[in-house]
Amino acid sequence: MTDAVSTTVPADPGDLTGLTALVTGGASGIGAATARLLAARGARVAVLDRDPSGAPEGTLPVRADVTSDADVRAAVESAVGELGGLNILVGNAGIGAIGTVEDNTDDEWHRVLDINVLGLVRTARAALPHLRKAAAARPGSASITHTCSIAATAGLPQRALYSASKGAVLSLTLAMAADHVREGVRVNCVNPGTADTPWIGRLLDQAEDPAAERAALDARQPMGRLVSAEEVAAAIAYLASPAAASVTGASLAVDGGMQGLRLRPA
Ligand code: NAD
Repeated sequence: MTDAVSTTVPADPGDLTGLTALVTGGASGIGAATARLLAARGARVAVLDRDPSGAPEGTLPVRADVTSDADVRAAVESAVGELGGLNILVGNAGIGAIGTVEDNTDDEWHRVLDINVLGLVRTARAALPHLRKAAAARPGSASITHTCSIAATAGLPQRALYSASKGAVLSLTLAMAADHVREGVRVNCVNPGTADTPWIGRLLDQAEDPAAERAALDARQPMGRLVSAEEVAAAIAYLASPAAASVTGASLAVDGGMQGLRLRPA
């Protein structure tokens, strides 16, 4: 557990001993921070990633690409076999896209929607039979948590494709929450603002002066800083945990006030 988590986050997931979790995209950024936190709280954790080399120590790495239904099914079955069940699914794997509708090609649209939206559908489809079993055995313990984005509702410039994909994630989360509420499987999402992960690092590296671009990015945030991956992970872990046993169909912004605040000059 990192200092950021222990000192800044009040919504504690509590003791997760005896629970099992699968985190997609868990080898980097928000997913890795989530896998690390769930494991630190006692859960047995598997990390599904197309490149699982960065899976946190103490977690079970499983290689799979979420664009392949066969891959995902095999990975979920293998993880469930190793872990001995599945209580918590975190659907987090996702990629970015920059541009207006005039910039991105059909192929780019298909690729991003395939990963960001269908990736979650495939993972949930493979996991739901196991989650239902977990819910029956231990009520309140079964959940799906998606990593969405404030882009789902914020109207960000130069993010048509990415925003559409995350809008679909938000709608999917709500519809799934309705479909599975009586089965005891809760479905929620977190909406990060700009989170400090390798993804953002890669974007900054494309700038002429990455350090200046980073300072400008920090300055644009209401809090004057980015959200940390650990802060987003803490929100995911809370929603995923029995501590949130009556929370379903919720979307939790972890964005330093980016969406909710309407900051105006005094
Ligand atoms: P990241 O690039 O650091 O990590 C993403 C992980 O997903 C990587 O390990 C990658 O290998 C994996 N992945 C990507 N495509 C995959 C595929 N097809 N199959 C399997 N694994 C795949 O990114 P991050 O910033 O930690 O982002 C994680 C999630 O958070 C994404 O869904 C993203 O949309 C969302 N998000 C990020 C931010 C941000 O500012 N970083 C903001 C809002 C939402």
